[in-house]
Amino acid sequence: MAVGPLHVTAPVCLSCIRPLPSSSSSTQIHRCPLCRMPFCSPSCAGDAAHAAAECPVLSKGGGGRLPGDSVTDFGPGARPHPVYQCIMPLRCLVLREERPEGWRAMQVRKA
Ligand SMILES: [Zn+2]
Ligand SMILES: [Zn+2]
Repeated sequence: MAVGPLHVTAPVCLSCIRPLPSSSSSTQIHRCPLCRMPFCSPSCAGDAAHAAAECPVLSKGGGGRLPGDSVTDFGPGARPHPVYQCIMPLRCLVLREERPEGWRAMQVRKA
């Protein structure tokens, strides 16, 4: 399914798009081993859509600090993190090129 966070959003799980638990319960955050983006559960962290779309881009650069590492402010009061603004466009591009059906479905959802 073609889903993803809105452009302006507090940190959410990139798989199920639920808001992440607040930082006071950061033990509930599961980070992708590759790009360090936060997810709500180990199964979400292994999401195929994430691995296929933004993960390779976000984890590029190696060696240094990964974008996901800077996402540390969770919960309803959290400010939108800039990295989330690039995730939806990334997913759109990947979908359009690799899964045209998913891309069309997303256009319908938006309308
Ligand atoms: Zn999740
Ligand atoms: Zn990742």
